[in-house]
Amino acid sequence: MTAQDPVVIAGAGPAGATLALYLAQHGVPVLLLEREAALPKDLRASTFHPPSLEMLNELGVAAPMIALGLIVDRYQYRDRGTGEVAEFDMSVIADETLFPYRLQLEQYELTAIIERVLRRYACAELRFGHDVTDFEQDADGVSVAVTTPAGRQTLRGSFLVGADGASSNVRKAAGIGFGGFTYHEKFLVASTDFAFEQVFEDLSWVNYVADAEDWCVMLRTDKAWRVLWPVDAASNAEAERELGDAALQERLHRLHDKPGDYRIRHRTLYDVHQRVARTYVKGRVALVGDAGHINNPLGGMGMNGGLHDACNLGRKLVATWRGGLDREAGLAAYDRQRRELAARFVQEHTIANKRLMESSNVDVQRERQRDLMEKARDPEKAKAFVMERAMMHCAWE
Ligand SMILES: Cc1cc2nc3c(=O)[nH]c(=O)nc-3n(C[C@H](O)[C@H](O)[C@H](O)COP(=O)(O)OP(=O)(O)OC[C@H]3O[C@@H](n4cnc5c(N)ncnc54)[C@H](O)[C@@H]3O)c2cc1C
Repeated sequence: MTAQDPVVIAGAGPAGATLALYLAQHGVPVLLLEREAALPKDLRASTFHPPSLEMLNELGVAAPMIALGLIVDRYQYRDRGTGEVAEFDMSVIADETLFPYRLQLEQYELTAIIERVLRRYACAELRFGHDVTDFEQDADGVSVAVTTPAGRQTLRGSFLVGADGASSNVRKAAGIGFGGFTYHEKFLVASTDFAFEQVFEDLSWVNYVADAEDWCVMLRTDKAWRVLWPVDAASNAEAERELGDAALQERLHRLHDKPGDYRIRHRTLYDVHQRVARTYVKGRVALVGDAGHINNPLGGMGMNGGLHDACNLGRKLVATWRGGLDREAGLAAYDRQRRELAARFVQEHTIANKRLMESSNVDVQRERQRDLMEKARDPEKAKAFVMERAMMHCAWE
């Protein structure tokens, strides 16, 4: 890595912004390029697991996040058929982490905090309206092709990181395959300010709700309740119908039949995939976050995995920059550690989490609920379950 050229990062989402902050705090020059004119504010991931909070705490941004977010120290698996509830109390991992809870906070709050903090570092620059389209690399660095409102430019970096999300231009330009599959159903999400906690007894802020016909996830973010359902919507017309008022009101009323309409603050319908890039590294180019791996949102592992990638890659780039680590060896270790975890742990768990919810066989559901309730009652099993769901074993490599 040559001392004069910055690390160029494509994409200021949670993964790219976190990596930029990590590098800036360690004195490594960094140029963060964001395609949009401002940081995107769409409602997407909203769960921060304990290891992510620890990493963000080391970067000095956990405290302002916690001040904005909702602390969730227990979560539930509910069976609508029997009314049974298996509740997992996250205090069972209090001796393992500084943050024995999930923080519910919109991901755009994190990137907004980082944007403010980054301004304090002379070695860091964030440019909006910069769409990374292509790159060429040589022995000394990477020439990054960018489209900007002022026209096309080529920017020089010592290294290029693709943090540009699931449709990553960097991954495509590097010719890296993105194997896996796309689920046939889509996920429908609606946010409402209705106070579900006042109508369901002892409801926690995060709930996985089994139902023979209509399973869902109910979670409260820092701002509103959000409900997520799988839906079959193969055509545009079906998608439009699912997103329409009539269908959404019907779904929400099936969940709780209150008088009058629900006030729906936000709705979205999106495709869900399980994919991992064939490699995370090609020469001086690396992938982090959704550019390298995508999975269904059950368990909230997608964004968290991206944050863990960012801190792992950050450590390798800082050590390389300081001359303490051979570049190729450091990047090979990043690829091995993070890609294997995505392929083994995150893919397996998120696929299993979805299977656990979706069986329409009542016997399978009853068995699942009995198993979860037994785990929740047994302190050792409950701790193992919570540790796994909190990604406690798969973050630090
Ligand atoms: C609709 C939706 C709902 C979701 N809900 C959940 C959820 O409930 N729970 C969960 O865990 N996960 C959820 N996810 C996934 C989660 O949002 C992602 O895992 C997370 O955002 C990944 O962060 P990232 O930084 O890798 O990528 P992104 O957040 O996608 O950020 C990429 C950034 O790069 C920018 N960019 C893109 N292309 C370029 C380019 N060529 N040049 C420069 N900049 C570029 C984008 O504008 C964006 O700012 C959801 C995703 C979607 C799409």
